Amino acid sequence: MTGEEASELYFHGKFYRNGIFDDLYIGISDGKICEISKFRNNARVVELENAVFPGSTDMHVHFRDPGETEKEDFASGSMSAIFGGTTTVFDMPNNMVPVIDYEVYESKRNSLRGRSFCDYGLYSMFNGGNTNIIHDESIGIKIYMGESTNAKGIENIDETNQLSLENLGKNIVFHAESGECLRKSSVSVNTLCDHSMSRNTECEKIALDKLNKFRISRKIVAHMSDFNNVETMRDRTFKNEMLPQHMLLSCEKIENSWGKVNPPIRDEKIREKNFQAYLDGKIDILSSDHAPHTEKDKREVRYAKSGMIGVETRVPLILALIRKKIVPLSIFVKTCIENPPSLFGIKKGLIERGYTADFITVDFSSTERISEGRLHSKNPATPFHGFEAIFPNDVILGGEIALQGKELIEDHFGKYMPLKKTEIV
Ligand SMILES: [Zn+2]
Repeated sequence: MTGEEASELYFHGKFYRNGIFDDLYIGISDGKICEISKFRNNARVVELENAVFPGSTDMHVHFRDPGETEKEDFASGSMSAIFGGTTTVFDMPNNMVPVIDYEVYESKRNSLRGRSFCDYGLYSMFNGGNTNIIHDESIGIKIYMGESTNAKGIENIDETNQLSLENLGKNIVFHAESGECLRKSSVSVNTLCDHSMSRNTECEKIALDKLNKFRISRKIVAHMSDFNNVETMRDRTFKNEMLPQHMLLSCEKIENSWGKVNPPIRDEKIREKNFQAYLDGKIDILSSDHAPHTEKDKREVRYAKSGMIGVETRVPLILALIRKKIVPLSIFVKTCIENPPSLFGIKKGLIERGYTADFITVDFSSTERISEGRLHSKNPATPFHGFEAIFPNDVILGGEIALQGKELIEDHFGKYMPLKKTEIV
């Protein structure tokens, strides 16, 4: 050893690192990778079978806790995450009591303590004039440009507020649908394609053009629903996030309201375009926007609330597409594993010294069909029911086994991740 901490244990397996699967011994100390070696020594070694990747980060979930725990709570949401190979989630701030100040943040943070199976960060919400009371541990700031669940729309941000947001030194994540544009719509909604017309992609375009001009350096556009909106854009100043539903589902093919989401699932032509953009490496981040509702909330398309689950199926859906040679491995690794933590300045998602020891093991021969009855959300209905997926066999979180042979280790919990400005790498 060269003056570093000694490894407490090693994991041995074929780790995906620098674009290849490499036979490695990974030494762990204090939940982090402290040694990467080709050779074993006398320490305790845990053998990992199949392909090993770093754990995945889902930067966009709504676990509804506190406030709407009949839809989900942090235990059920984070359990779903682990079963789906996601070791880290960032939870959105539009709770019943929106997280807009220090006190609400503290109370949310305290109420979640010791209840998450995966690691987690918490967002705060910008409400037009609260930058000075936002908690400094927030993982990022969410801005809803149009009204949404428990959030009023903030579409125009003056220069003073842009500067205050910039000074927070955090990622600013935008829900980019223009409120003004949405209010003009008069389409009556009986199908999911009506829903897409009622919140048409022009409203997304208007919002994107606006936020592109904001003088904020760390901008991420959440759940882009129509890649045509950015393709022609010159001097794009933001990173873009996409969801599996906008590249794998189209409104013509879904009849029930479980696929009602905002921004809406678009038609087949746009879906194809979105998926192609993903395959071409033009999407920075793939998130789930896991946003459960109860059956009662989802009864009829017209009145149904918007949002669907996804934290457990996001990675497995893509793994099945890798096996079919549709999605390149490198695109999956960038969008699901490396980019999300790296854009937030967090040392996760790489097999490198100093990075958190989160791993998932994947047997690429074990394709199965997604079945609602086997998902772990409190409200597991999903338009992805019946889709092919590959669920991870094992999940290691901070050097400890959280899922083994597809069985949850129930007494293992994840960590809360505060993100102070000074800690950003
Ligand atoms: Zn969302």
